[in-house]
Amino acid sequence: MTVPGRASGRLSARNRRKILCVSPVYARSFGTFEHAYGFRGSRAFMPPQGLLVIASALPENWDVRFVDENIARAHASDFVWADAVLVSGMHIQRRAIDDINHRAHSFGKATVLGGPSVSACPGQYPEFDYLHVGELGDATQAVVSALDENPRRPGRQVRFDTAERTPLQDFPVPAYHLAELERYFIGNVQFSSGCPYQCEFCDIPALYGRNPRLKTPEQVTKELDTMLAAGAIGAVYFVDDNFIGNRRAARELLEVLIDWQKARGYPFSFSCEATLNISKHTELLRLMREAYFTTIFCGIETPELDALHAMKKAHNAALPLYEAIATLNSYGFEIVSGIILGLDTDTEETPARILEFIKRSNIPMLTINLLQALPRTALYDRLAREHRIVEDERLESNVVFTRPYDEVVAGWKWLIAEAYEPSALYARYAHNVEHTYPNRLHPEFGSNRASFSNITYGLRILANIFLRVGGLSNYRKEFWNMALPLLRAGRIEDVIHIGLVGHHLIKFTREAVSGEQNASFYAPAERPRAAAA
Ligand code: SF4
Repeated sequence: MTVPGRASGRLSARNRRKILCVSPVYARSFGTFEHAYGFRGSRAFMPPQGLLVIASALPENWDVRFVDENIARAHASDFVWADAVLVSGMHIQRRAIDDINHRAHSFGKATVLGGPSVSACPGQYPEFDYLHVGELGDATQAVVSALDENPRRPGRQVRFDTAERTPLQDFPVPAYHLAELERYFIGNVQFSSGCPYQCEFCDIPALYGRNPRLKTPEQVTKELDTMLAAGAIGAVYFVDDNFIGNRRAARELLEVLIDWQKARGYPFSFSCEATLNISKHTELLRLMREAYFTTIFCGIETPELDALHAMKKAHNAALPLYEAIATLNSYGFEIVSGIILGLDTDTEETPARILEFIKRSNIPMLTINLLQALPRTALYDRLAREHRIVEDERLESNVVFTRPYDEVVAGWKWLIAEAYEPSALYARYAHNVEHTYPNRLHPEFGSNRASFSNITYGLRILANIFLRVGGLSNYRKEFWNMALPLLRAGRIEDVIHIGLVGHHLIKFTREAVSGEQNASFYAPAERPRAAAA
């Protein structure tokens, strides 16, 4: 079967329609940096890649309006304008997804829901008019055809499942021109989808497959050019589930990326998610450094070997952990790590052992969360069989832990408070200042990096950090102890990076310890994506 519209990357329709694409609000987390937005005028974390791809794939003769409610709420006039409202989101956005649906229905508009949450749990969204289950593919054309035929609300819910996925090579460039890229904290791009591993808690293999599917390197650079033209600057995150899921393809991409960066004066620094065993592939690391990758998110999860085996993450257990981290640092990559508490193998000593690991590894930023069982994972199935899934929004997780709930939550609070105590955090950054950042590529200041607007933008951020952290925060003494030696050495970029990210981590932790933020990946106040890779 051929997916209609495949050749052009666009779907087809006979009649003109007006589609409102709305991205739901997501909750704060360690990894979304809200407390740093004010320093640089950002309003949201990353552009919603999936929704922008769908917006771009819609028929050429359809008018598309895009609203990211993390930046500004959709107005009544947007709903009035639209023939239909299209929403895409993750589990963490469930309440916001339903809220958009209710508002659209109050204006009598048909609603369509796609994305990872509905694809994993279609039964959770009984009130949407159309459900799009699975990735971009034949279901997408089926939704378009239904709206083309009749844009009014159907009498009952209609569900379309993707049987044939559109190959990533046929994905259109996301509709970056509809998003205000300069208002996002970082940009993002996708090269591959899927991961060959099968960690027990992770839904990526079931949702996106174990054989990574790929875009071409030329597609990626075309997208980067489009982002550049649309005003993106700074850091770009590869949202791939595992950047080295196909190492040969990653190598081919990197060779093209290096040429692209050189030709344009290194406008972006890159980061990605990858399994820790990337440390064994030094040729890849060399190429990543040359392409100006600076940060790698690794799902280290736990330093406890029995826990890694129990969660089917043996590829981490087989590695000499501290050596692997030091190797990545030696290529200039700062590591960000996912950490999970609440595993069946946890003991009373686990939080202290993890803190010891944090200190010894000197990883500055870790997303430390309580275990949550996601639908379509082996973990969920096992816990359901054991009657250990509980749906209670007052709790921090849907897992019935083997240890007492209050002790697990108290251990989490103790651990994050210790890990993000300002002087402890700055000490880990100091290690990276000495042992990681100097190993990075230091691109020549080309036109894109040294433009007048970039320099004034950097100085504005620095002034904000001095004022809000160095002047107004109650950890200003620790800040200046960290910042003054760096300023004397002229390492302004390091002060900006540590000042921004550190401020978010310290403030977010204080909110979490006081109960304002949540402790698990997908409980109501947590990060939008699992600690993949
Ligand atoms: S946690 Fe990471 S390595 Fe494990 S299956 Fe998910 S994406 Fe792959």
